[in-house]
Amino acid sequence: MSFDYQIRRSTRAKNTRLVVKPDKIEVVAPPHVSEKQIKAFVAQHQDWLRQAVQRVTDKASVNSLAPSEYRDGVLVPFQDSQLLLNLSFHPAKTLKVHHLVSDDKLLVKLPISLAPEQHSDHIRHALSHWMKRQAQQQAQLMIEKHAPRFGLHPRSLRIKTQKSRWGSCGPNNDINLNWLLMLAPAAALEYVVVHELCHIKHKNHSAAFWQLVAEHLPNYQQQRHWLKQHGARVMQGL
Ligand SMILES: [Zn+2]
Repeated sequence: MSFDYQIRRSTRAKNTRLVVKPDKIEVVAPPHVSEKQIKAFVAQHQDWLRQAVQRVTDKASVNSLAPSEYRDGVLVPFQDSQLLLNLSFHPAKTLKVHHLVSDDKLLVKLPISLAPEQHSDHIRHALSHWMKRQAQQQAQLMIEKHAPRFGLHPRSLRIKTQKSRWGSCGPNNDINLNWLLMLAPAAALEYVVVHELCHIKHKNHSAAFWQLVAEHLPNYQQQRHWLKQHGARVMQGL
């Protein structure tokens, strides 16, 4: 099986590389690389391509919440809102993210020196970091809100990237939370925090456990349901 691809010449490209998008495969090559070399390059990377195409189609079929490309004017899911991405450039070397809460805007300043074809990946990467920090802060606030009621104090809180779970509570009450919850409603994050806090008392999902969850959040079933229904899309990430 072979793939159709488009060749894009780039004076900035140092090596030939493959870019798999939902609608096409691109080979980005420096001007001096011949078509024959490109053909050989693609032939050598058939296995890699097959997997990459699979990943992209899987992602497209579950219909990710996130934009397929990060550019000016796209909407980025964040808790109960959609933040408008507003790009500008600055002479600094690092990418800066600033959340304009009042306007539901995410201001992203890109280094002028960054190649345009790298913008989307760099923005995605920076937004993941930004959301992790938000997750840490908000989860901490929710712990402060709920922990004192029944003395459910975790030993530590860690924010992780996980593809199959929202959170966990270890044997020593170390709580891990998945930052992808920032793409879900704030109430869902609160539910997961409470769920893990309740595991400090009950290391199971017994009736007593669920009763304790309900003491904190009488409507927790709604959030649980929401996560069951939309979880797969949220797990697609940014
Ligand atoms: Zn549990």
